[in-house]
Amino acid sequence: MIDSGILIILSGPSGSGKDTVLGALMQRRSDVRVSISMTTREPRGQELDGVHYYFVSRSYFEKKIAEDRMLEYAEYAGNFYGTPKDPVDEMLRAGNAVFLEIEVQGAEKIRQRYPDVISIFLLPPSMAALEARLRGRNSEDEETLQHRLVIAREEIRRAAEYDYIVMNDTVENAVDRIETIINAEKQKTCRNKTMISEVINNV
Ligand code: 5GP
Repeated sequence: MIDSGILIILSGPSGSGKDTVLGALMQRRSDVRVSISMTTREPRGQELDGVHYYFVSRSYFEKKIAEDRMLEYAEYAGNFYGTPKDPVDEMLRAGNAVFLEIEVQGAEKIRQRYPDVISIFLLPPSMAALEARLRGRNSEDEETLQHRLVIAREEIRRAAEYDYIVMNDTVENAVDRIETIINAEKQKTCRNKTMISEVINNV
């Protein structure tokens, strides 16, 4: 048996398709879980509280930080985003591959706290494709959209800080690539020490 779950960061600019890719990955595998973040931004389109995010006030968010209930948090485009700690610990204890869909500052904090974390950067095929996806989403005004494109360039410049780069040319290809990473990471020696002793002790 694998020693415990694996923690995986998935970053990528707004509009890179993280939600869609993780949704498709969960359809394929029963050992994948995605952490639900807390945010102070307003819900967008069809987003539901407790499904896509926990939508909270700034004062509630600040209270959770003060109580040390957040694994990490960051400010992005004027709003707070963060990962509640307890559900992640629980999903890891149950042996899952737990994904944190977070931006680059949060990723940096998690790496410092959990050196074993695996990090993946989801790369759009081009800036033009990213802009088309953001426009297709039709959920931001022009100013917000332009701001997100500026942040996207800065984020993509930091992609080299990640363990893996996955191109999201098609959802299926991106999911295949991420599955390959999960499968290989699960075989790593550091995650299979009990397997060795089990074999030796059961001759
Ligand atoms: P959006 O507003 O497009 O849903 O998210 C904006 C950015 O915040 C995305 O890059 C998304 O991955 C990131 N994000 C979402 N949840 C969290 C979180 O819990 N922590 C951090 N650090 N970033 C997050």
